[in-house]
Amino acid sequence: MHSTHSDGTDTPSRLVELASEAGLAAIALTDHDTTTGVAEAMEAGRQKGLRVLSGVEITCEYGGKSMDMLGFCFDSGAAELQKQLDRIQQGRRERNLEIIGKLDALGFDITYDEVAAEADKTDGKIVGRPHFATVMIRKGIVTERQEAFDKYLAEGGAAYVQKLAVSPGECTAMIRNAGGVAVLAHPKLVRFPAGEDIDSLLTNLKNAGLEGLECYYSLHSEEETTCYLELAKKYELLVTGGSDYHGGNKPEIKVGTGMGNLRVPVECADKLEARARR
Ligand code: AMP
Ligand code: ZN
Repeated sequence: MHSTHSDGTDTPSRLVELASEAGLAAIALTDHDTTTGVAEAMEAGRQKGLRVLSGVEITCEYGGKSMDMLGFCFDSGAAELQKQLDRIQQGRRERNLEIIGKLDALGFDITYDEVAAEADKTDGKIVGRPHFATVMIRKGIVTERQEAFDKYLAEGGAAYVQKLAVSPGECTAMIRNAGGVAVLAHPKLVRFPAGEDIDSLLTNLKNAGLEGLECYYSLHSEEETTCYLELAKKYELLVTGGSDYHGGNKPEIKVGTGMGNLRVPVECADKLEARARR
């Protein structure tokens, strides 16, 4: 789940409340490039009797394409991890300024402060493209969020700027060195570099330190889930699952159930925790 510490619209404590109300046995907070919400989520979890796993979602670059890597069950106080996340956050600030430059060249009057103010409304230090989309809708540049991404913000869009390139190996090392487990996020959304397929990708990522595959995901069909579960078995990867809940920034995704039929077995959390204790 994503909180106000990145591009979600609920605070970490509120996420714990929502998850308890939904009857979930465990959650992981996986904000983009930051773990600043983890302590609050864990404390709220202790109070509500809900298991909360530490988590993070880091974008890495593989063969010129960006890809999301999840980390779970690490020590969020680990100094080296925080140092690396700081570096990534600095890269993100520079990228955001480049996006502003591109939008300006396209004739749109949007300032960095306006976009950052969207993140501040929550308590986000992490400014991301969803915040740009919100400002673009408010200014009437686009009528809806998806249009902002398709025309401007997504890869191939007129104002797209790639994030600081972190390799999959750097990413898995950051997570592993902090005691955690590195997992490939939502394989359905992976865009393959030329000549690569899911088998070569998983082989290469496993060699780079990957330990799990997000088989259960809001946008995976039953057939896709089955296919990813088989791949996890084939490559001896842990099975994980997530809704990618972002609150109002992805209103179609519900807590726990995703688009309606998501159900992540609690064994996923058990196995992640067991692996992290290795
Ligand atoms: P950022 O952290 O700035 O790269 O933004 C990442 C977030 O933007 C994701 O978590 C999604 O919420 C959203 N996003 C990225 N690509 C798209 C897309 N093609 N369509 C809609 N939303 C997207
Ligand atoms: Zn997000």
